[in-house]
Amino acid sequence: MRKSCGAAILASLVFFILSAPLTAMGADKIETATGLIKLSGERFIVDLKYAGSDNFLKSDVYSPFGLAGCYVHPEMRARLETVEKRLKEEGLYLIVYDCYRPLEVQRAMWEIMPDARYVANPATGSLHNRGTAIDCALADESRQPMEFPTAFDSFSPEAWQSHQCPKESPSPCGNRDKLNEIMGAAGFRTIRTEWWHFQLPGAKKYPLLSLEGGAK
Ligand SMILES: [Zn+2]
Repeated sequence: MRKSCGAAILASLVFFILSAPLTAMGADKIETATGLIKLSGERFIVDLKYAGSDNFLKSDVYSPFGLAGCYVHPEMRARLETVEKRLKEEGLYLIVYDCYRPLEVQRAMWEIMPDARYVANPATGSLHNRGTAIDCALADESRQPMEFPTAFDSFSPEAWQSHQCPKESPSPCGNRDKLNEIMGAAGFRTIRTEWWHFQLPGAKKYPLLSLEGGAK
């Protein structure tokens, strides 16, 4: 009895000693609060559109909340490893426009534009609030963005998956189909109206995540 108690104390001590330097080094606060993983990899170019003013809100809604990276659900990270292998084989890159969006940011966006046609109501949240969606496009071997049917976050019908490019300029649709093929092979699902959006199967069943920690 005394022996196991001593062992437990020793184990806690070892844990404390091992974990203390991590905290001191500044473990990633967003990873700690949400359980998500910050995406990194040589084939990913992270260009968060909401961390600048080049977006439909014309406003940087990420920097005030300290969001400067692409955070994804661990299951998503595993699938993105498959994607990265394929990108390497093809000499391509994935440009990432949006990943996890904190619930706090969703509320800020709703304040700027309280219109469910353009912004998800924070009361119900979006898949991005769950870390189970990623918005992306392809870049070529020289890391230059490839042409797609529309810009990111366009609300026009050309952004739909069903859009057919004119015969004389088929490459934007070809690039969209290539992106779908690469992401689809890793098990991601698409939605009808946004060529850039991919999500985990059953993406809605995951909880909404806030920066204050835990599910809401
Ligand atoms: Zn999306």
